[in-house]
Amino acid sequence: MNIAIIGSGLTGSLAAISLANAGCRVDLYDRFTDEELINRDRTYAITHSSRKILQKIGIWSYLVSDLVPFQYLNVIDYELNKKFQFLINDLSISDRMYSAVGWIAEHKNVMLLILDFISDMENINKIPTSVIPNTNNYDLIIAADGSNSNTRKKLKTPSFKFYYDQICITAKVLLRGVKSNEAYEIFNSEGPFAVLPLGGDLFQIICSQSIEKGTYNMSLTKASFLDYLSTILPYGVEPDTLIGEPISFPINFLLNYSFFSGKYIYLGETAHKVHPVGGQGLNLCWRDVDCLTRLISFPLLKNNHSIIPFIYSLLRIVDVLSISVLTDSLVRYSRSNFNIFVLPRKVLFFILRNSPIIRKCILNLMTNGF
Ligand SMILES: Cc1cc2nc3c(=O)[nH]c(=O)nc-3n(C[C@H](O)[C@H](O)[C@H](O)COP(=O)(O)OP(=O)(O)OC[C@H]3O[C@@H](n4cnc5c(N)ncnc54)[C@H](O)[C@@H]3O)c2cc1C
Repeated sequence: MNIAIIGSGLTGSLAAISLANAGCRVDLYDRFTDEELINRDRTYAITHSSRKILQKIGIWSYLVSDLVPFQYLNVIDYELNKKFQFLINDLSISDRMYSAVGWIAEHKNVMLLILDFISDMENINKIPTSVIPNTNNYDLIIAADGSNSNTRKKLKTPSFKFYYDQICITAKVLLRGVKSNEAYEIFNSEGPFAVLPLGGDLFQIICSQSIEKGTYNMSLTKASFLDYLSTILPYGVEPDTLIGEPISFPINFLLNYSFFSGKYIYLGETAHKVHPVGGQGLNLCWRDVDCLTRLISFPLLKNNHSIIPFIYSLLRIVDVLSISVLTDSLVRYSRSNFNIFVLPRKVLFFILRNSPIIRKCILNLMTNGF
């Protein structure tokens, strides 16, 4: 099967490898050079669903040494002043043997490895342009050109989208009082924030807050920014040094009404974008890749590729919709600091702290999707 992929971000590039492994001939288009693709300062939480996909493709064993595993995911609700932990025992039995609730990955390491794999594969042709000269040459065209996708605009595929009245600030910080194998997901009234281990004392802070407060915090000197962090970090955790500059970006939500248009299939953030603080974004994108690869590898569909886009769209909707709603609910939960929400929050926290079965269900959903 001849496939064009528009966009070689982490979704498009992984799709290229996965589909090439499945026997397709892939032309991978991107307007950026490899250097520009690699040099993005982002940190991802990798879940077990991504681990399984990378294992299937043969990348995991090369990548794992660059990842930072965490064994404890502390969830804290500042409004209630309560905490519980997701532990390895909350995972399914088959996931437990990997001794990690999840892993933290830096964009550079993942992108570099994926591009290395691509350069070794004969049936992937990288083309440094955004224009496909002749779309008739392809059986399927995959749009993986990100949340501002030109392809989606050109094909006039409608989507539901909105901007949160928040910005996201990310910063690398040396911390004291926290173990190198723990991560935090914290709910406070400004919005959720995450503390992710990057090895040793180095941690990535990803926090969302109102545009006004975020803009003010971004204008602070390094010393004042550290003072600010010490006011929002959990009790006993102290920021020591800020590494580099904090980065901020607006946060938007996007969900396409359809994940295909004719022979075009929307993959990754072209089809859906969720709030970054839940750590689900990239994992959801890679599950798109896995679903499409399974369909393309299915013998009955090899000669009936025109129905693949429709089946793909049907198969992906439940996982994408449920993770989008769950992530959005976490943001709203965090910001619902009105008195009427205190009792439901207390009940929810009580259940999560005391019911291993509910904890397992939630962790399994967050780590493996639907
Ligand atoms: C600033 C920022 C920080 C983020 N931080 C996190 C985080 O901490 N954790 C997390 O899980 N997720 C994070 N995300 C989200 C995460 O980056 C995405 O989930 C992931 O990159 C999605 O990958 P993608 O390949 O679908 O889209 P993208 O990474 O957006 O890739 C799209 C690719 O398409 C290319 N392209 C665009 N238009 C064209 C065209 N016309 N022709 C050819 N190529 C084109 C672009 O050059 C790009 O390479 C962040 C996103 C942003 C913007």
